[in-house]
Amino acid sequence: MRDFTYQSLPWNIVFGAGSLKRLPDELRKLNRSRALVLCTPDQTADAHRVQALLGDACIDVFDQAAMHVPAATVAKARALADKLGVDCTVAIGGGSTTGLGKALALQADLDNIVIPTSYAGSEMTNIWGITEDGRKVTGRDMKVVPTLTLYDPELTLSLPPEFAAASGLNAMAQAAVNVTSELSGPFVVSMAQEAVRRLAMSLPRVLQSPDDLDARANALYGASLAGGALGTGTTGLHHRLCHIFGGTFNTPHAQTHTVLLPHSIAYNAKAAAAGTGLLAEALDVNDAAQGIYQLAKTLGAPSGLRDLGVKEGDLDQAADMAVESAINNPEPITRDRIRLLLENAYLGRAPEAV
Ligand code: NAD
Repeated sequence: MRDFTYQSLPWNIVFGAGSLKRLPDELRKLNRSRALVLCTPDQTADAHRVQALLGDACIDVFDQAAMHVPAATVAKARALADKLGVDCTVAIGGGSTTGLGKALALQADLDNIVIPTSYAGSEMTNIWGITEDGRKVTGRDMKVVPTLTLYDPELTLSLPPEFAAASGLNAMAQAAVNVTSELSGPFVVSMAQEAVRRLAMSLPRVLQSPDDLDARANALYGASLAGGALGTGTTGLHHRLCHIFGGTFNTPHAQTHTVLLPHSIAYNAKAAAAGTGLLAEALDVNDAAQGIYQLAKTLGAPSGLRDLGVKEGDLDQAADMAVESAINNPEPITRDRIRLLLENAYLGRAPEAV
C-alpha cells in the first residue's frame, strides 16, 4: 500500500426521501432564522414550497439563479440579501443554483444551505465559479462548502429523463476520473468507485421507471459521492477537454462530459491500467471505456460532439488548446493523439486507444 495524504471537507448531510420537511428544524439547529431562498425561474414552485415550510424564517425568494453564475446575478442577489439582512441562503435546484449560494457564501460570508435536485454534485466541493464578460473564473475556498446539504430524492422525481441521463453521466465523469487517476488516494478512490457502482446500477432504472424512488435515491447518493471525489480528488485530461468545449465552443455542460468521458478513459487506459481495472469492476464490465460508452447509449445520451453544435473545423483549435499548458494526467498529452481522440468523439465512434 502506498503512502497518501487526505484532507476531507466539512460535509454536513441530511439524506432521505421526504427529508425536505426537516428543513425548519435543521435551520433552528444552525441558529439561523432569516433565509433567502434561491432558485432558477424554472423551479419557483420548489422554492415556494420551501418558503411555505419555513414560514417566518423565509425572508424572501430570489428566483433568478442562472447557468454559469453570472456576476451580475450574484451582485443583484447580494444587494437583496444585504437590504433584507438575511443570515443564510437556501439554494434549491441544480448546480447553477448551488453555484449562486456558493458565490454569496464567498462574497458575503452567508451560510449556505443546499437542497440539490440534480446530480451535479457541486454541493460536495469547495469549488466556486462566477462568470463575468464571458469568462468563468473558478477557485477553491472552504467558505463555499455548504453549511448543510439536505438531499431529498423525492425532489429529483421531476428531473426530465434526458437531463437525468446527462446529469448522471456528468456525475459519473467526476467519479471515473478519480478512480483512474494515480493522484487520487485510497479515500477518494473508494468514494469514486462506490459512486460509479451506484450510478451505473441506478441510472438505467431511473430512465426505465422514472417514478422508482429507490433508483432515484441511489442515483442521488452516487452523485453525492462523485461530487465528494471531485471535491477532495483531482481532475486531468477529461476536465481540460470539457472546459475547452464548454468555454470556447459553448457546448452544454453535462452532455459534453457524457460525450468525452469514454474517450478520455480509453486515452489513459494503458498508463492507468490498475485504476481502469477498478473502474471496469465498479461498472461490472470487462472494458471501462466501452462500458461507459454503452451505458451512455442505453441512457439515450448524445454520443458525438457534432450533436452538441461542434464543427469539424473546431477540432484543430481544441487540440491546440488542450496542449497549451502542462496538465496532471496519467498518459502524456500530445497534440496529434488528442486530435485523433477528438475526431472519434466528434463522430460519436466507440472509444479506442489512440
Ligand atoms: P442547472 O443547475 O443549470 O439545471 C438545469 C435546469 O434544470 C435548471 O433550469 C434547473 O432549474 C432545472 N432543474 C434542476 N433540477 C430539477 C428538477 N429536479 N426538476 C426539474 N428541473 C430541474 O444544471 P446542473 O447540471 O444541475 O448544474 C450544472 C452547473 O453546475 C454547471 O454550471 C457546472 O459548472 C456547475 N457545477 C459546479 C460544480 C462545482 O463543484 N462547483 C460541480 C458540478 C457542476
